[in-house]
Amino acid sequence: MAVDYSALKKGGFMRQKQKNTFSLRLQVVGGTITSEKLKKIYEVADKYGQGYVHLTSRQSVEIPFIKLEDIEEVKLELAKGGVNPGVCGPRVRTVTACQGNTICPSGNIDATNIAEELNTRYYARELPHKFKFGVTGCQNNCLKAEENDVGIKGVLDVHWNKEKCIFCGVCVKACRSGALKMEDNQILFDESKCNYCGRCEKSCPTSAWEGETAYIVSFGGLFGNTINKGDAFLPLVKSEEQLFHITDTAIQFFDDFGNAGERFNFTIDRIGRDKFKKVIEEAYNGGF
Ligand code: SF4
Ligand code: SF4
Ligand code: SF4
Repeated sequence: MAVDYSALKKGGFMRQKQKNTFSLRLQVVGGTITSEKLKKIYEVADKYGQGYVHLTSRQSVEIPFIKLEDIEEVKLELAKGGVNPGVCGPRVRTVTACQGNTICPSGNIDATNIAEELNTRYYARELPHKFKFGVTGCQNNCLKAEENDVGIKGVLDVHWNKEKCIFCGVCVKACRSGALKMEDNQILFDESKCNYCGRCEKSCPTSAWEGETAYIVSFGGLFGNTINKGDAFLPLVKSEEQLFHITDTAIQFFDDFGNAGERFNFTIDRIGRDKFKKVIEEAYNGGF
C-alpha cells in the first residue's frame, strides 16, 4: 500500500533521509512538559527510537528513528501518557513561550498561560502556510517575539506616584532607555523614550511606580530564507480579551487572503500593509 507521507507529516511524523523512518514531532505548549509526559517520551524513544530525543529550535521534542510499521503503536503508547503528536506543514505550529512572570523575576505577563490559550484557540488550524506564535514575558525578549508571524511581548504601562517616592534614584539607574531623570525632588518621565520594560516598577523600594500589564503585538515576522522583523504598529494592548480579538483577526486575515505556500508577511505585502493595519486597528478599537 502507498504511504501517505503528507498525512503522516500533518500528524507530526516527518520523513527522515533513511527509508521508511520518521522523526516524530510532539505537541509541546510554551516549552513546558510534565515529568509524567517525559517518562512516556523516554519509554517510546527507548523502545521505538534510538534512545534519544531532539529538542527543536521551537521548543518542541522530536523522537527520531520511528519505523513506519511502528507508527500506530507509537501513537497508542504516547496517548497512554497524555502525549500528543505535533503538526507540521501549512497550519498553526507549536506556540513558543518563555516562563513569564510565574517564574522569571523580569516577567511582566504570564507567558505560559497566554501560550496555552493561543494553543487552545489555534493549534493545528489549517492555513495557507505555516503560522507561528511566540510569547515573551518582557523586553529582554528571550523568545524573540518579532521573528514570529504573530509575536506577543509582555510590558508594563508605568505611572509614577510622587507621594510614595523617597527620591532614592534607583529607578533612574534601572531605566536603560534614558526615560527617567531626577531633578529637584522630581522624577522627570519622558514617556516618548519609555519602552515599557517595567524595570522602574520592579526596582522601586517603595512601590512608587505602578505598572499596568500590557502587550506589544507584532505581525509578519520571518526568520528563514527571508528575514523580517515583525511590525509592532499598534499602541499597547491592555487586556487579554483585546489581545485575542486581535489574534483572531490577524489569523482570519491570513485565512481569507493568503495564497497557498505564502507566508503571512508576503500576504500582508501583496494585499497592502495599509489595508492590513486598518483591519487590525479596527480589531484593536473593537469596544474594549
Ligand atoms: S523574556 Fe523576560 S520574562 Fe521571559 S524569560 Fe526572558 S527575562 Fe524572563
Ligand atoms: S518602564 Fe522601563 S523604559 Fe519606561 S521608565 Fe520604566 S524603566 Fe524606563
Ligand atoms: S526608585 Fe522609587 S522611591 Fe526611588 S526615586 Fe524611583 S520612584 Fe522614587
